[in-house]
Amino acid sequence: MRSPRFSARKAKALMAKLPMMLTCAEFEEFILDYFEGTLSGKQYAVFKVHLMLCRDCKSYIAAYERSTELGKNVFKEPYAPVPNDMPEDLVQAILAAKEAGTDSEPRI
Ligand SMILES: [Zn+2]
Repeated sequence: MRSPRFSARKAKALMAKLPMMLTCAEFEEFILDYFEGTLSGKQYAVFKVHLMLCRDCKSYIAAYERSTELGKNVFKEPYAPVPNDMPEDLVQAILAAKEAGTDSEPRI
């Protein structure tokens, strides 16, 4: 019996046939839409295929999920005290993530 698992080689062959190939940079642009659930069916499929094939983007999205989780908590309670045991580099990482996240927003 054949394995039902979708092989990376098959995925790559499929990806080559798709009219729109996703580069890692394009993938990053899709991430926000992906989390908001606004990708079209086709975009979602291409996104998923890239995610399945690309180790870099897989770990990128994992890091992105972690940073947005942390970011959300920061936004939710802006006046919550920072725990004393919070490492300084983690604080800096969150601040950097917030900065990066607001880059495309118009500044007032
Ligand atoms: Zn990638």
